[in-house]
Amino acid sequence: MSTKPYRVLLYYKYVKIEEPELYTQEHLKFCKDLGVKGRILISQEGINGTISGTVEQTDRYIEAMRKDPRFSDMVFKIDEADGHAFKRISVKHRNEIVTLNLDEDLSPNEVTGNYLSPKEWYEALQDEDVIVLDARNDYETQIGHFQNAIIPPVKAFRDLPKWIEENLADKKDKKILTYCTGGIRCEKFSGYLVKKGFKDVNQLHGGIVEYGKDPEVQGKLYEGKCYVFDERISVPINHVEDKVIGHCYYCGKEEDRLVNCANPECNRQHIACKDCEEKYERSCSKECREHPKNRYWIEKRQEEEASAQSVTP
Ligand SMILES: [Zn+2]
Ligand SMILES: [Zn+2]
Repeated sequence: MSTKPYRVLLYYKYVKIEEPELYTQEHLKFCKDLGVKGRILISQEGINGTISGTVEQTDRYIEAMRKDPRFSDMVFKIDEADGHAFKRISVKHRNEIVTLNLDEDLSPNEVTGNYLSPKEWYEALQDEDVIVLDARNDYETQIGHFQNAIIPPVKAFRDLPKWIEENLADKKDKKILTYCTGGIRCEKFSGYLVKKGFKDVNQLHGGIVEYGKDPEVQGKLYEGKCYVFDERISVPINHVEDKVIGHCYYCGKEEDRLVNCANPECNRQHIACKDCEEKYERSCSKECREHPKNRYWIEKRQEEEASAQSVTP
């Protein structure tokens, strides 16, 4: 039973979309009329979205999508929420729904790794002779990842193939377990590994988010939280053991609060404890702290004005 008034939907589908630009416009209008907010990418290879709305709005969204034969079997990962997870709706056309920028076209409908259910994944993780490979970006992995995972230090998904070629080219006979947030990146990435000659490539079906929802596995062997691309910033995954694996960028103590650097031209996402956020004015360097557009003091002043108004009769 749903107890909260809002929901966040996470979904994707690799499926051929004819005239994606036109569909993008239609879909934006549909979302606006419905009142959902979020971020949706559409390309000729499919759709990738995260949206938030009331239970009724999200129900209507799912219902409408299921009526479209292209998306009739699309999986929606549903989280309950107290409010919207986005400020506005954005529906954009892109060349790819996730950017791997490979020379040759790679469709997960043609080549991809084996899908493992959360339970199969949990069992495979306990095999000593596997390579667990995180397919996300470095800023996502700092607050949580699977135990014993290899965390490639990449800033963007499109940098991953190069890192693989430089670091794992001699591991093609090993069993590979690769995972990402919701599974969309791994569909493509595992296909890339198969094409590169890796013999036993496996991916976590539905990603970390689905893993955390499995009632039997309960997120076990995942450490910390899972970074998400909306205003929630992170969601809990392991419901058995709640561990903090991040460290404050400034003082080094255990922490998993992510903040954006207050310099709007830097915006670097980093971990900061409450004390250090104030002490260092949420700025990741001296240059950022002294930047003329630094938002920290502007926001402070607005907060103070707002609270002063609320106590004035
Ligand atoms: Zn600190
Ligand atoms: Zn900065």
